[in-house]
Amino acid sequence: MRVITTKSELRSSLQPSRIARKTIGFVPTMGYLHEGHISLVKQAKLECDIVVMSIFVNPLQFGPNEDLDRYPRDFERDCELAKEAGVDYLFHPDVQEMYPNQSLTYVRVGQITEKLCGASRPGHFDGVATVVTKLFQIVQPDRAYFGLKDAQQVAVIEQMVLDLDIPVIIVPCEIVRESDGLALSSRNVFLTSEQHQQALILSKSLRMAKDKLASHLFESTDQVSQFVIQQIQTQSLAEIDYVDTLQYPSLQNPNSLTDDLLIAVAVRFGSTRLIDNVLVRHNNKEC
Ligand code: AMP
Repeated sequence: MRVITTKSELRSSLQPSRIARKTIGFVPTMGYLHEGHISLVKQAKLECDIVVMSIFVNPLQFGPNEDLDRYPRDFERDCELAKEAGVDYLFHPDVQEMYPNQSLTYVRVGQITEKLCGASRPGHFDGVATVVTKLFQIVQPDRAYFGLKDAQQVAVIEQMVLDLDIPVIIVPCEIVRESDGLALSSRNVFLTSEQHQQALILSKSLRMAKDKLASHLFESTDQVSQFVIQQIQTQSLAEIDYVDTLQYPSLQNPNSLTDDLLIAVAVRFGSTRLIDNVLVRHNNKEC
């Protein structure tokens, strides 16, 4: 595995592979790797000749009062995990390398970014869309792998790639969970054991809501969200940011319970904000 810190070196390193018509898979991350990230690499290795992973904590997607400074980082450990997983090129630029000038250009995806994390983190998805566009330009991958843990992000990137004619196939990958159900996240490291225990309500309530939907026990999508809210409120340390049930991937209000639905939650435990979701597809495709 080669660790590369500059755009120019990455471009020139990938050039021979491109000329040899090798397929390049790309896994963008913010590091502090866990099995969720590794699952994206595994999927990329199944489908591509070369796998590039980026590790970059992107300041542009953090709001002024968010956790940019305390976002967990351990580059040495990440290197070992990435190498073990079979990453060929690990791109690890610093902020100056990614944003050498004051940027005057941003990428903004409409509508899909107005709900859920887009509503509670203003500007977040502008930061995500902008950095992912830059990374796509630098790596020029054939395929890029994103986790459905961030289902809204997947919808935003898919729309952006479509709208801007970016020649990359977006591959959404399933959520990886701990054996107790908690969705893996770099931020889980901040949870106390009591918070961790209480946070299990997220996956549990989403799973229950999905099962009840399948058994036709809800009359409206509002009822679905209300059910999840009630479940989460049984946990004393949980502070709900949002719970919503929306059409996926448009993230518009659903017309009926038979739409493809995303039930999504964001909940704070102390200073740690966790997100989780479940997709309920009605066209025989389950996630
Ligand atoms: P992050 O480092 O949090 O920006 O995540 C980098 C990529 O890994 C994104 O595409 C995430 O959706 C994905 N990811 C993070 N956690 C998980 C998980 N538990 N399961 C699957 N993918 C994940």
